[in-house]
Amino acid sequence: MDSDAQSATSRAVKIVRRAEWGARPPQSISRLQEPVTYAFIHHSAGTEPKDLESGKRTVRSIQNYHMDTQKWSDIGYTFLIGGDGSVFEGRGWGIVGAHTMNYNSTGYGFCFLGTFTNSLPTLAARNAAKALIAEAAAAGRLKKDYKLKGHRQMGSTECPGTALYNEIKTWPHFSP
Ligand SMILES: [Zn+2]
Repeated sequence: MDSDAQSATSRAVKIVRRAEWGARPPQSISRLQEPVTYAFIHHSAGTEPKDLESGKRTVRSIQNYHMDTQKWSDIGYTFLIGGDGSVFEGRGWGIVGAHTMNYNSTGYGFCFLGTFTNSLPTLAARNAAKALIAEAAAAGRLKKDYKLKGHRQMGSTECPGTALYNEIKTWPHFSP
């Protein structure tokens, strides 16, 4: 990614870096080849945090669950989005995640914090995710003709919740 794209990213979307939310270091890192084909939308199926501090706590607890219970090398998602529009760096760009089985090397996983079966993430959260994905496409991290999909399209899961799944059908690059 060139420096113009980097500065555009930091201008438009405020990323809460790993050090800011108190991430544990990854046990290992695998790099992937950009640009990737897919942007996958997930929900955490927990409670939606409404401010930065509760968002940080939520992300730390997800990382603990993924590392201690699931025995993954790190938090699974590429980025996570809180109800106040905070975007938390998970594995981050250029790294293979653990979010969408069989597609972790060819897609990025964006997780809305909360349960969105019957209700939507806040407008702030939705706008932050859309901006993050658009910037990733502009920066060449996603293919120009990338496919946006809900987790449930790739496996046996309700994720990202029916309300959120119906919402992302209206987003750019949604792929049925
Ligand atoms: Zn999911």
